[in-house]
Amino acid sequence: MSGGKPGPGYTSGGPAARVAPLLRWFGRRRRDLPWRRRRDLYGIWVSEVMLQQTRVQTVVPYYRRFLERFPTLKALAAAPLQEVLKAWEGLGYYSRARNLLHAARIVVDRHGGRVPAGGAEFRSLPGVGEYIAAAVLSIGAGAVLPVVDGNVLRVVCRWQGFAGDVRLPATRRRVRAFLEGIIPAAAPGRFNEALMELGALVCLPRSPRCPVCPLRSGCFARDRGRTGSLPVKGKKRPVPEHEVALAVIVRRGRIYIQQRPEDGHLGGLWEFPGGKCRPGERPGDAVVRECREELGAEVEALRELAVVRHAYSHFKVRLHVFACRRRRGRIRPRRPHAWVPAADLGAYPFPAANHRFLPRVAGYAEERQGFRARFARGY
Ligand code: SF4
Repeated sequence: MSGGKPGPGYTSGGPAARVAPLLRWFGRRRRDLPWRRRRDLYGIWVSEVMLQQTRVQTVVPYYRRFLERFPTLKALAAAPLQEVLKAWEGLGYYSRARNLLHAARIVVDRHGGRVPAGGAEFRSLPGVGEYIAAAVLSIGAGAVLPVVDGNVLRVVCRWQGFAGDVRLPATRRRVRAFLEGIIPAAAPGRFNEALMELGALVCLPRSPRCPVCPLRSGCFARDRGRTGSLPVKGKKRPVPEHEVALAVIVRRGRIYIQQRPEDGHLGGLWEFPGGKCRPGERPGDAVVRECREELGAEVEALRELAVVRHAYSHFKVRLHVFACRRRRGRIRPRRPHAWVPAADLGAYPFPAANHRFLPRVAGYAEERQGFRARFARGY
């Protein structure tokens, strides 16, 4: 089999015969997840947005807290961005949260707060792509739209022997075309959930549990001993790593932080001033230059408080965090900013990597405060 045109697939039999074992298996084995107890479009939508790029176990506590805090779409639409980002903090891919909030406000303004169940209207909302639309509308509104995510690609490529690279759009199209031919009109959401669940629990990436799989009879990969070589995944491009230097500036026990622009990477979150090192530039020099450019002030890097590595989807960073002292010039922030006591840092949403050095930052601010107090007392 090759990754060419959509074909009839490996399994024989009509669509109903192909999917019946899968649906029966799902009825018996499906996990009791919090979003499966809510069948309203808003609750399903939140879960599907959170589940993109994120594991189920990670999402469960976030989902519970988010729905407690914003139980309805109207409650979400009325919330300030900062509060939504705080509830999302640590889940990553923050554009998902910003888009969800933006979309909720549009739904309130244009649709009276009712999530539109029509494909075109729903697809026009920010952050709603093909996957979210198919998942939410099939599960919540019975739309006959197949979902194609990583789990589904793996299951179908093994089951049907599709050997195209799953990173290529042509393979996705082939899988979607196959699923369009078998998705049951009476239970599209259940079918989609069942396939995704099978990928999560049985057709595992490294060691698929074929003996207990409902698709084992007529599975190409199992019949031909190809579970190790399917699905085919092309090589990932190497991910660049950037050196980044950050400044911790403390004034009278308060730490300077600023907000990232809303429309960029990690938009709306809070950060310490600083930025990428130039080629050949030492982090200690980069932090001084960045503070000059960003804040208009000369600072001195006193010592490195922490070095933290973090991986995003398309690049990695190594964060060098410096305790800095202002030497000349007033700090003139160009973005929303705040001077906050160490104890209040937790009230602001920060990127996940920052949480690994915030205790050091707080410790440094307290150390400086203690020094000031001793200095004021004359010893
Ligand atoms: S039989 Fe094995 S390889 Fe085929 S779909 Fe089931 S778990 Fe995957």
